[in-house]
Amino acid sequence: MESQFDVIIIGSGPGGYVTAIRCAQLGLKTAIIEKYSVLGGTCLNVGCIPSKAMLDSSERYHEIKYSSVNHGIDVDNTRVDLKRMIARKADVVSKINGGVSYLMKKNKVEVFQGVGSFKNKNTILIKSETAEETITGANVIIATGSKPASLPGIDIDKKRIISSTEALNLKEIPKHLVVVGGGVIGMELGSVYGRLGSKITVIEYAGSILANMDKKMGAELQKSLKKNLDFEFLLGYKVTGATNTGDSIAVTAEDKNGDIVTLESDYCLVAIGRKPYTTGLGLDKVGIELNSRGQISTDKNMETNVKGIYAIGDVVEGPMLAHKASEEGIFVAEIIAGQKPHINYNTIPSIVYTSPEVASVGKTEEELKTSGIKYKVGQFPFSASGRAITSGKTEGVAKVLADAKTDEILGFHIIGERASDLIGEATVSMAYRAAAEDIARISHGHPTYYENLREACLDVEKIAIHI
Ligand code: FAD
Repeated sequence: MESQFDVIIIGSGPGGYVTAIRCAQLGLKTAIIEKYSVLGGTCLNVGCIPSKAMLDSSERYHEIKYSSVNHGIDVDNTRVDLKRMIARKADVVSKINGGVSYLMKKNKVEVFQGVGSFKNKNTILIKSETAEETITGANVIIATGSKPASLPGIDIDKKRIISSTEALNLKEIPKHLVVVGGGVIGMELGSVYGRLGSKITVIEYAGSILANMDKKMGAELQKSLKKNLDFEFLLGYKVTGATNTGDSIAVTAEDKNGDIVTLESDYCLVAIGRKPYTTGLGLDKVGIELNSRGQISTDKNMETNVKGIYAIGDVVEGPMLAHKASEEGIFVAEIIAGQKPHINYNTIPSIVYTSPEVASVGKTEEELKTSGIKYKVGQFPFSASGRAITSGKTEGVAKVLADAKTDEILGFHIIGERASDLIGEATVSMAYRAAAEDIARISHGHPTYYENLREACLDVEKIAIHI
């Protein structure tokens, strides 16, 4: 007899496994299907977690080698053991894999290993290497995520022309790494190897890096990476090909005038973004519609055109972020349970874990200009922060955008030490629709980095204390 569930979730990334827990909390009999032998999806296995482990290790190395001396600490013979660094990263991942499995057991979510595909609207076939079975569900949630995208003329051979997945498992430190794409993943993984000593050349089609964030953020990060690491930027260049010639790669790119450059490197990381992953799901069997970008189309309840089938996370439209996938998962679980949840997409933060870090929430200055909204700007440089000076982390700026009339905070953009944590205060402020003056009037501990946010809010009225 087939097992029957209230909810079947296909995919165990931060979308899928969080949905499963919330469904179980709401009393729904829940199954989750994952094609790999480990749970956690892209984020845990080849994304957020391993990249942050490598960023942390590489930053420690770089700090010890180049910054400790300024603190009066002499360290001789600092060396990198890449094999051990990667082994530590694998341990971190494996520990959290175990944590996700524990959470499934604790919440009595039934886990199936294999590729899930639709037999019909309520029946899912699960095929593993050794077995086949079917289960049925009153509701099905597709959380199959995304895969790295490539460009015409570039074949990711996974040896020297690599995606982020291979970049997290290299056997040697590249001498010269060409990074195609100046977005978040390119800047983070470029930083990992840049800190370990690689020369990094970033080729980006747009005129700036981090092109989706407030322009100031990309400009500041570019300056910093050039100053602190061996980074070079080719902006406004279209990559036309990459060829593996054995021990090296020839990457060709063309600028806006049609002038062509060829770069020799030992590795080329293709980091131009990710594409939704629906292969093998059998969507055609149930007639689920995709949009022109290959994402599963959903309505305001994240329900597809087929009643009872929902989709969340990277496989639908919106920013490809782990916490966005989780938010959508909780939302759908609550919809299925008959509740009336809400997601505010405007308060989903974006973070780049470079050094300095970059973090952003709400509208960018460019978006406000385009939509004709009148705004005021407040800024506070980290170089004026007592805490930043004590730590020698003075690069960066906190920038707030507030409505010209109501003073409501419309966007917060931070580049600087611990921006990934500072954005928390900005996000809560925006979620509660705070005015810049509200933040300016709240006591902030001293000396801290989060004082910088208060000073930026004071600067909206040009009454910052420390500038
Ligand atoms: P995924 O995590 O992709 O999970 C989908 C799962 O579905 C996979 O395990 C897959 O095997 C499984 N699956 C697919 N098809 C089937 C099938 N037919 N049957 C069974 N299982 C199936 N985001 C952040 O918020 N912060 C970060 O710091 C961050 N860093 C990143 C760094 C890198 C290098 C990369 C690549 C991504 C990063 N991301 C980050 C993005 C983040 O990983 C994704 O947004 C997130 O994983 C999306 O979650 P998801 O649940 O939608 O899909």
